[in-house]
Amino acid sequence: MPPPFRPGRTRNISKVKHEHSILDGQAGDPLQERRNALAKTAAILAADAIAPAEASASVTYRSSGRLLVVGTAVQALPRADLLAASLPVTAVLLDGEGELAARAYPVLHARAIAVAGWLGAFEARWQAPGQAAQQASFDLVLDLCPSPLISSHQHPHGYYAPGPDEAARRAAASELLDMIGDFEKPKYFSYKERLCAHSRNERVGCNACVEICSAKAISGNGDRIKVNPYLCAGCGACTTVCRPAPSATTSPRPRTLAAASRRRCAPMSMRAARIRYCCCTAKAARR
Ligand code: SF4
Ligand code: SF4
Repeated sequence: MPPPFRPGRTRNISKVKHEHSILDGQAGDPLQERRNALAKTAAILAADAIAPAEASASVTYRSSGRLLVVGTAVQALPRADLLAASLPVTAVLLDGEGELAARAYPVLHARAIAVAGWLGAFEARWQAPGQAAQQASFDLVLDLCPSPLISSHQHPHGYYAPGPDEAARRAAASELLDMIGDFEKPKYFSYKERLCAHSRNERVGCNACVEICSAKAISGNGDRIKVNPYLCAGCGACTTVCRPAPSATTSPRPRTLAAASRRRCAPMSMRAARIRYCCCTAKAARR
């Protein structure tokens, strides 16, 4: 396996090719090829034997399928028509109030709309021309606007912004039909307030985790930070910028990940001890 490609960095392709040739077992050497095949099989069996990590805590979502479809009339109405057969749909149209055929679900008009929240708990606020601002709650959102209404890189569960691609829109619509009921995901994150530099001395200091979180799950709250477990996607990026660790991923725990990694790598290191490929392989080989 080549070393992980890191976004924003170039990769030395000739080096990768060289490493491939080492790992592929000096093509033409049947003994080495057999050793490598045995090592691969042993590593796969070891990986299969690893029990799935148990979440230490979880968060739950409840959705009854109240769906907001938002976009222009041309984009939103055909999709809303289809989905309205199975879900309670509300369409909010962001273009002019033209003549529209009557529909069995609410069709509203807005000059602008803002959406926030997560599966089962979205809040939409919009302003219709010449009217006071309105708001409503939804369980699901299908965003067919040219730019997503929720700008975070990792979108919240229940929010679909498939973009202009028709296949992606069909896939999103089909997934939406399954998004009714109770859902659960691990609570990935724990936060030790007393260690956090943001809140220390009750003055805003560090903002590193707030800035790196691609799900916008972390926010400053006066002299504290707040982590929203419903938005956290468990990517672990916040833990890479935080020392000592007021923030830490809890599921799977780092210790569990390390143990699983060692078990996967150990057979490789025993069978192909000359290959020092990753740090845990090297450690296992030295034992
Ligand atoms: S990176 Fe760490 S110290 Fe900084 S605000 Fe986040 S939790 Fe606090
Ligand atoms: S693990 Fe951290 S950076 Fe990743 S989504 Fe959760 S709070 Fe944000």
